[in-house]
Amino acid sequence: MAPDLTEGLVDVCTRLYQRRLTFSTGGNISVRDGDRVYITPSGRNKGMLKRGDIVTVDMDGRALQGGKPSIETGFHLAIYKMRPEVQAVVHCHPQYCTALAVMGAPMRTGLTPEGVLLLGDVPLVPYGTPGTKDLVRLLASYCVDHDALLMARHGALTMGKDLEEAFNRMEELEFQAHMQFLVGDAEEIPLEERRRILGLP
Ligand SMILES: [Zn+2]
Repeated sequence: MAPDLTEGLVDVCTRLYQRRLTFSTGGNISVRDGDRVYITPSGRNKGMLKRGDIVTVDMDGRALQGGKPSIETGFHLAIYKMRPEVQAVVHCHPQYCTALAVMGAPMRTGLTPEGVLLLGDVPLVPYGTPGTKDLVRLLASYCVDHDALLMARHGALTMGKDLEEAFNRMEELEFQAHMQFLVGDAEEIPLEERRRILGLP
């Protein structure tokens, strides 16, 4: 195990828990190290993990070291196979993101410049039973060109080029979801300005 990556993974889990972005055993977080992936174990509280609890799996999901990997290991691996530039995946159940996902309400990321910059378009992925191949297939079809997603009646998913970027996106996603409840139907930043923020012509 690469100590810096597994330490970083435990650190992100602790931060997610302390920032109330995940609760009890909910969520699963992983980081890629070449042809292996370090992932959180099944059924454990994300605020109480230690380095020795992290499970190492190969790209087919076989555990190489540690206990039982998360039941959602399948979609983490599908994302890494599809998007080689993605090196970290964060899935958890932040309260406001999950509220939107339960209501089936579309995520609005054009309320502030950070939402535009960090998140872009955030689709609401239809419901799939946790831990199933159906959920892996559903998510895979949306992950090709999105870095942040809501999962209907379930939670949220972000990815990034490293753990910090994936964590930043999750923190920003929950901030924007909370904002959406606070501001009601306030208008989003006009399209022209959003293009300017993104440096588009
Ligand atoms: Zn979940």
